Amino acid sequence: MPFGIYIHIPYCMSKCRYCDFHSQGASRTVPDEYVQAVLRQIAAFSPARPDTLYFGGGTPSLLSPQQLCQLIDAVDPLSDAEITLEANPETVDLAKLQGFRAAGANRLSVGIQTASEQSLRRLGRVHTVQQSRQVLQFAHQAGFSNISGDIMLALGGYTTQEFDQTLQLMKEGGVSHISSYLLKIEPNTPFFSNPPTDLPDEDAAAEFYLYSVEQLEQAGYKQYEISNFSLPQKESRHNLLYWNCDDYLGIGPAAHSCMNGIRYAFGRDTSAFIEGSSDWEQTGVCSAEDFVMLQLRLNSGLRFSQLEQRFGASLTKKMPFLRQCQQHGLAVLSDDGVALTPQGMLIQNTILCELLD
Ligand code: SF4
Repeated sequence: MPFGIYIHIPYCMSKCRYCDFHSQGASRTVPDEYVQAVLRQIAAFSPARPDTLYFGGGTPSLLSPQQLCQLIDAVDPLSDAEITLEANPETVDLAKLQGFRAAGANRLSVGIQTASEQSLRRLGRVHTVQQSRQVLQFAHQAGFSNISGDIMLALGGYTTQEFDQTLQLMKEGGVSHISSYLLKIEPNTPFFSNPPTDLPDEDAAAEFYLYSVEQLEQAGYKQYEISNFSLPQKESRHNLLYWNCDDYLGIGPAAHSCMNGIRYAFGRDTSAFIEGSSDWEQTGVCSAEDFVMLQLRLNSGLRFSQLEQRFGASLTKKMPFLRQCQQHGLAVLSDDGVALTPQGMLIQNTILCELLD
């Protein structure tokens, strides 16, 4: 069974207005004491050599190449491991990306979001569209051939033209993977207390989502998960671990783990993590419901036989409902499973409520 490690880097240059990830703004570097705290956790746990290693945040590209090298060496991933680093355009130049590549990172996930300068400002992003273009060019020059870009959909005043321009930027920049998300207004963010007044309503946002799926597919980025699209064989191996309920270990404040079917998390307190006074706390177990929910995020869908083998559970009583979903173009049934269509993914929560009732 594949195994992955996630390392959280809770520092950003500035806090984006929509963001509820655990990170502190106004940071230009990652303090060495934080890297030391992560190294202590790796040494204490001495995990197996992972198939995937993912640096997420926050803004992991605030690490220096030397810090990244220390962390990768300590984890000692398998020789063919996928090693992803999230990077924001304002934090890197060619030399730094070359350093990251030399340190062992082989996949870059770049926070591009949109090709509209005005939207970037409204989101509170601190990079320009030109910096996004440049970072993709630098990434190729530095030797990265596996590059992912994020797109945020249904922003204030959004148009299909804004999406087209963003997709064009990604294509010209040679990205092999795209994560395309609908903007979500989360509690405890500046957008929650002061949301943009021209946000699309739910129906319009759904139209933007379906439009993006169609355009991404036409451009050769095949959808494999609700919000993720890739060229052939460029799916995120690390994120697939989450959706397939495989084992992963998360290190850092607010990082989650799931090992042998038990879920754990660190508290959202960076100082406590650095001091060594926070530890993994058990937060629950991975249930049949979790498995159904996560598998239905994937275009490959849920295999009934796997649900039976792993959890001794069955959806036999829900077959009439699933057949109805199929009739309405929301799902596709096969002999041993069910997968949601993009229309079904849009109302996944409603479908799950009925399935898991
Ligand atoms: S750069 Fe990413 S993690 Fe940092 S504030 Fe913005 S969205 Fe959040």
